[in-house]
Amino acid sequence: MPCTSSEELKQIMMQARVYTQYGKVADYIPALNQADPDNLSVAISHPEGNCVSAGDVRMKLSLQSISKVLALALALMDRGEDHVFSKVGYEPTGDPFNSIIKLEISKPSKPLNPMINAGALAVTHLIKGESVQERIERLLYFVRKLAGNPSISYCEEIAASEFETAHLNRSLCYFMKQHSIINEDVENLIYLYTKQCAIEMNCLDLARIGLVFALDGFEPLTKEQLIPVSVARICKTFMVTCGMYNASGEFAVRVGIPAKSGVSGGIMGSVPNRFGIGIFGAALDDKGNSIAGVKILEMLSKKYDLSMF
Ligand code: GLN
Repeated sequence: MPCTSSEELKQIMMQARVYTQYGKVADYIPALNQADPDNLSVAISHPEGNCVSAGDVRMKLSLQSISKVLALALALMDRGEDHVFSKVGYEPTGDPFNSIIKLEISKPSKPLNPMINAGALAVTHLIKGESVQERIERLLYFVRKLAGNPSISYCEEIAASEFETAHLNRSLCYFMKQHSIINEDVENLIYLYTKQCAIEMNCLDLARIGLVFALDGFEPLTKEQLIPVSVARICKTFMVTCGMYNASGEFAVRVGIPAKSGVSGGIMGSVPNRFGIGIFGAALDDKGNSIAGVKILEMLSKKYDLSMF
């Protein structure tokens, strides 16, 4: 079994840490800019319940785009595959995650996939609930179950900071409202989406969630099927094809693990049928992925032959 020793993981983390100097913390959401670029933590969660970790695992990260996978799972459970994919496509894009350009030129006019911002907004729109508050509570309940941690919540400050500055996301929403992809009040949706992105946890929680996806939706400790197998598989497929933004192809070649990153510097990895990985390193590369986090995954994959291909 790979990486059973924390010492081994620590060595890999130390080798990757040197790359943080070449990265940059995201600043388009002002609150994210407060993160320490040198901080790095990593955890691997196994089905038997044991977890190995390295770095300061108490550090919390906001999920940002990692939340797109969780919202997709919930929306698929709420509405079913046909409904969800009538609003969002299946195809990867070579564009940055917040690009607006293909929204207009794709025919029919819908977001290309659920991992870019436009697609994620269309998916979050589908989360059921009587009110925005109920929708965020339902998502939080789901995330807490996946992580096995009832104390998980969102960070008010990060949510507010994004809400104030999310003009590009608002414009994606207005475009989609014009084309009947969404039909709710845009401010409502942005309010919900910014809270979703601000859900906070540490890399241990993230590794636990990664493990549930690795096991096709099965939570091995409580022995519950938290996500239907077919839904977990759809999510993992998008993690492979679009999870690392417009670096997903290179990542698939070099690492070959279903993974999803966020601009906070988090990466959730799911090694099929084996284990979950949670990483937090706020310094990002030019595509918006944790620069040291990608290195850690590359080293783990090579050392333990983890590529699924
Ligand atoms: N909340 C961020 C946004 O919508 C998430 C993007 C990301 O993590 N890439 O811009």
